[in-house]
Amino acid sequence: MFDYLMTPAQLKLRDETRELIKSLPREYILDMDAEKIRYPKEFLQEAGRRNLIGIRVPEMYGGRGGQWQDDIIVAEEICVPGYIFGCTWGVTGDVVTEALIHFGTEEQKKKFLPAICKGEKFAAECLTEPRGGSDFFGATTTARRDGDDFILNGQKRFIVGGEGADYFLVYAKTDPEGGSHRSITCFMVEREMGVKTEYIYNLMGSRGGGTARVVFHEVRVPKENVIGEVNGAFTVFSQMMIPERFGTAAMTIGAARPALEIATDYSTKRKAFGTEINNFQAVNFKVADMVTKLDSSRAMIYTTALALDSGKVKPGRCRRMASASKKFVTEQCWDVANLAMQVMGGIGYTDVYPIEKIVRDLRLSMIWVGTNEIMNLIIQHEWYKERTGEIAMGSKRNSEFDALNAFAEGEKIYE
Ligand SMILES: Cc1cc2nc3c(=O)[nH]c(=O)nc-3n(C[C@H](O)[C@H](O)[C@H](O)COP(=O)(O)OP(=O)(O)OC[C@H]3O[C@@H](n4cnc5c(N)ncnc54)[C@H](O)[C@@H]3O)c2cc1C
Repeated sequence: MFDYLMTPAQLKLRDETRELIKSLPREYILDMDAEKIRYPKEFLQEAGRRNLIGIRVPEMYGGRGGQWQDDIIVAEEICVPGYIFGCTWGVTGDVVTEALIHFGTEEQKKKFLPAICKGEKFAAECLTEPRGGSDFFGATTTARRDGDDFILNGQKRFIVGGEGADYFLVYAKTDPEGGSHRSITCFMVEREMGVKTEYIYNLMGSRGGGTARVVFHEVRVPKENVIGEVNGAFTVFSQMMIPERFGTAAMTIGAARPALEIATDYSTKRKAFGTEINNFQAVNFKVADMVTKLDSSRAMIYTTALALDSGKVKPGRCRRMASASKKFVTEQCWDVANLAMQVMGGIGYTDVYPIEKIVRDLRLSMIWVGTNEIMNLIIQHEWYKERTGEIAMGSKRNSEFDALNAFAEGEKIYE
């Protein structure tokens, strides 16, 4: 976020997060990329000790009691050492906590939230399955009723924290015959109930987050662990889209920022044809593009945070703005990483600088928490509804008629 928009308290929050990030040994980052560290427990524990997990969780449950305008500041800083730091931090303290805050019972909030915010327990979200992630309603993991319990069977794929997490927010079919909006239930499943981690993926980047396939075989979950209503997961998921997608957008800026910084510094030192390469317009215009892309991303994030925090914007519009932010920002940041590599020349393609890691890490941003194609699906869906509403209201100028031959007979043919 832009520092000139931050309140003194937000500046302090940013600086606290920067202190946490500065305290991280470089070996820790490298060990995660090498998968010697499979899940960043120590990092999350330290973030929890500093009260930097659960930024929007009310203080009474151990969180920071902030709003999105605070959350985006921390999200950006957390991702500076690598995208996966933000992914693990976000899933546990922004995404799973969102479900608990909005749909959890008082008992569930008291049981799960303080431990997550303190960094004593870690949470994962389990939505994607081997048969696909884009089609939420196609879930094949089942939960059958057995007295006061549910018995879960099935598998989830690509789960950040699949190795390392203690709690799993799982979407499972409870009424296979029910309509798509009333067939799935959301559960808080605890590892010791019998969750198995079966396969750790060999990822291109964003490594060290325990991204794994998790398997539920006859896992008994008490009804007390249902989040929201039975068959009511669609409502939960509709809310979860916001932290998943908007949180991702905010984080992604932080993961791309070091690429701009490193490439800028390199361009002022590296010489070609007897002069520093930043004297070439082909180089400094790339830097200008990178700055513009990050600034416009921040502007979008900030506006969307204001909209979400206001409580005045309709849920459909919030979903559109969160999805548009995710799509726009991740694409801009992907460009930033690639432009940085171009500015660096051959050395950018090696592990002498972290640019190649940033490129590997950031490619994920356009795929996870819903691909950017799925973002488009939501954006157009909500926009068409908004436009229909606008036309019905009739409060705006109709620009269609501002053409010389707007009323030409027989020309406006639609069928
Ligand atoms: C490193 C990593 C971490 C992840 N972490 C998690 C996690 O913690 N929890 C979790 O639940 N999931 C997680 N995911 C899964 C991720 O969210 C999914 O991979 C993503 O949603 C896409 O699902 P899919 O891979 O099954 O692709 P598919 O759903 O099979 O899609 C394949 C392609 O088809 C396109 N497509 C599908 N349907 C449509 C449509 N209707 N219109 C247009 N295009 C369409 C998609 O855009 C994509 O290009 C993670 C993935 C990775 C790689």
